[in-house]
Amino acid sequence: MMNPFTKAKLAKASKLPYLGWVREQLSETNSAVRRWIEWDPDLDVYEAFYDARQVTIPIPVCDWSFLVCLHEIGHISTGDRRYSYLAEYNAETWAMRRAQQRYAVWNDDYLLDSKAYVHHHLVQNILYSSLEVGKVKHHVLDWLGISAEQVLEDARQYSITEQDNNLILR
Ligand SMILES: [Zn+2]
Repeated sequence: MMNPFTKAKLAKASKLPYLGWVREQLSETNSAVRRWIEWDPDLDVYEAFYDARQVTIPIPVCDWSFLVCLHEIGHISTGDRRYSYLAEYNAETWAMRRAQQRYAVWNDDYLLDSKAYVHHHLVQNILYSSLEVGKVKHHVLDWLGISAEQVLEDARQYSITEQDNNLILR
């Protein structure tokens, strides 16, 4: 049972094109919404549940929240998740490609943010998930616009600055 507050927010959002687009993508990818959450760019609560093919996504009200919806749907729709950098790269590129090709939505700032996010996961994977830098996918390095040597150096710098910080990304 959906709470009335969420229902009202969805009704309001349905005046914009994004909600219809998200529903179209849910249907095309055979996935469903577990929970709608009011959009807040500072929240990090959106999530994909692979086995159930469900997503917890923001009520889309702008390009950015629409791309976040597609990102979570992208997690369900893309395969290689052996490392989080790959899972995030696949979800992000899937989301941006679909937004651009199907709905003519493109956002330069989202792309920049996306690269920083994937880069952060890559560094974390090298430091904490024993990912060898030589095994990092070349197409991901190309997309990030950095060399394997640079990634290693970034990981080195990161471990120095984060030495006293045991916070690890999920
Ligand atoms: Zn993600």
